[in-house]
Amino acid sequence: MAQESISKTVGILGGGPAGCMCAKILSDNNIDVSLIDKSDFLRTILQTGGGRCNLAHSEYDFKNLAKNYPRGEKFLYSVFSRFATKETVEFFKSIGIDTFTREKDNRIFPVCESSAQVQKSFLKSLKCKLIKDKIIQITHDKKFVLKGESGNYSFDYLVIAIGGHSDFNLIQNLGLNIETPVQSLVGLITKEDFSTLSGVSLKNITAKVDKKVYTGDLLFTHKGVSGPLIYTISSVYARKTLPYNISLKLMPETDLQKILNDNPHKEIKNIISQFIPKSLAEYILNELKTDSMLKAHQINSVIRDNITEKLQNFKITVNGKVADGEVVTCGGVDLKEINSKNMQSKQINGLAFCGEVLDIDGFCGGFNLQNCWSTGYVAAMGIVEELNHSSDFPA
Ligand SMILES: Cc1cc2nc3c(=O)[nH]c(=O)nc-3n(C[C@H](O)[C@H](O)[C@H](O)COP(=O)(O)OP(=O)(O)OC[C@H]3O[C@@H](n4cnc5c(N)ncnc54)[C@H](O)[C@@H]3O)c2cc1C
Repeated sequence: MAQESISKTVGILGGGPAGCMCAKILSDNNIDVSLIDKSDFLRTILQTGGGRCNLAHSEYDFKNLAKNYPRGEKFLYSVFSRFATKETVEFFKSIGIDTFTREKDNRIFPVCESSAQVQKSFLKSLKCKLIKDKIIQITHDKKFVLKGESGNYSFDYLVIAIGGHSDFNLIQNLGLNIETPVQSLVGLITKEDFSTLSGVSLKNITAKVDKKVYTGDLLFTHKGVSGPLIYTISSVYARKTLPYNISLKLMPETDLQKILNDNPHKEIKNIISQFIPKSLAEYILNELKTDSMLKAHQINSVIRDNITEKLQNFKITVNGKVADGEVVTCGGVDLKEINSKNMQSKQINGLAFCGEVLDIDGFCGGFNLQNCWSTGYVAAMGIVEELNHSSDFPA
C-alpha cells in the first residue's frame, strides 16, 4: 500500500545487482534510501552472460532451484518461497525488460540480449539517492555511521551488498563471522601438461570426483581444464584440499578388441579418433608410449587394456585454480548469523545483507544473479514490513 515517506533512513552499501534490487523495492515503498557505490552503479552486470546478462534460470520450483547452490541451499528455501524465478521475470517486465528462455540450457536472458540495456532500464527505474564514494569504515551505535573517502553518512538501517570480491574487514569489524572466501566457478590448473590440447573441447562427457558423477562439456586450456563441467566441479569442490583427482570417461563401455578385429588394417589413432578428438587420441597414445601409426592387428592385449583404461578412466590431477569463468566467491557472511526471513543480522538490529557478500553461491546459469534479486528483495521487504509495523504503533 502506498503511503507517506517513512522518516527512518536506509543506507545500502554496494550498487551491484543485489544492492540495486534492494534499493528499488525500498524506494518503491516510499522509504528514504541512499545507495552508495565507489564505482558506476550496476557496473558489475555489464560482464554477465558474456554481455547478454543471463539473469535467471528457468526453474520454477523453489526447492529445485535451491539445489543449484552448493552453499546456501537450505537457507534459500524461505527466500525463494517469497521471490524466485517467476517474480524475477515479472519484475524485469515491470521495468521494461522482457525475457526469454534459451531452450538448449534453460537460461533466461533479456530479449534485448544486452547487459548494458538492463543496466540502463534498471537505473532509470530507481528513485533513490545515489552516492558515489568508497566506504572505508562502518561503526554502529544508535545509527550506522559509514566513513567514506568523501564524507560520512548515517542511517537507521544498513544493508550491506558489497559482493564477494570486496573488503570483508568492513563486516568483520562489526563483529560478524566471515566464512573464508575462496574462488568458485573457475577453470582448474592441472599437474598434467595439456597445452598441446589447448582449445580442444569434449561434449557431454562424464566426470567422477570421489565417486560422484557429473556430466557436461569440457575444454582443455594452456593451464589445464575449463568449461561448464569444470565450473560445476570447481564449485562443488571449492574448498577441497589440493591436489585432487578427476576421472573422465571419454567413451562409453565398448569392446575395443571387437573394433580392432573388425578393422585390422586401420591405424590405432584413427580407431580411437572415432570416440575422441584426434589430438587427444595422439596425446593418449604418446602418454602410453605407443606408436600412433600401429595397425589394429599389431595391438597386443597389454596395449589394448592400457588404451581402454585411459579412455574409461582418464585421470586429471587438479592442483590450482585460474580465474577464467563467472568467478564467484564461495564464502562470505556466515549464514548462521542471518535470519533468512528478512536477511538481517541476528546480533545487530537493523543490519541486513544481500547478494554475493553472503556465504551463498550457485552454479553457472543465472543462479548467482537470482541470489541477488531474491535476497535483495527479502532484505528490502524485511525493512518495509518492520517500518510499516512500527508506524501502526507509534512510540
Ligand atoms: C565475468 C562474470 C560473468 C558473470 N555472469 C553471470 C551471469 O551471466 N549470470 C549470473 O547469474 N551471474 C553471473 N556472474 C556472477 C554475478 O555477476 C555476481 O554474482 C553478482 O554481480 C553479485 O552481485 P552483488 O550485488 O552481490 O555484488 P557485486 O556485483 O560485486 O556488487 C558489489 C558492489 O559493491 C561496491 N562496493 C564494494 N565495496 C565497496 C566499498 N567499500 N564502498 C563502496 N562501494 C563498494 C562495488 O563497487 C560493486 O559495485 C558473473 C560474474 C562474472 C565475474
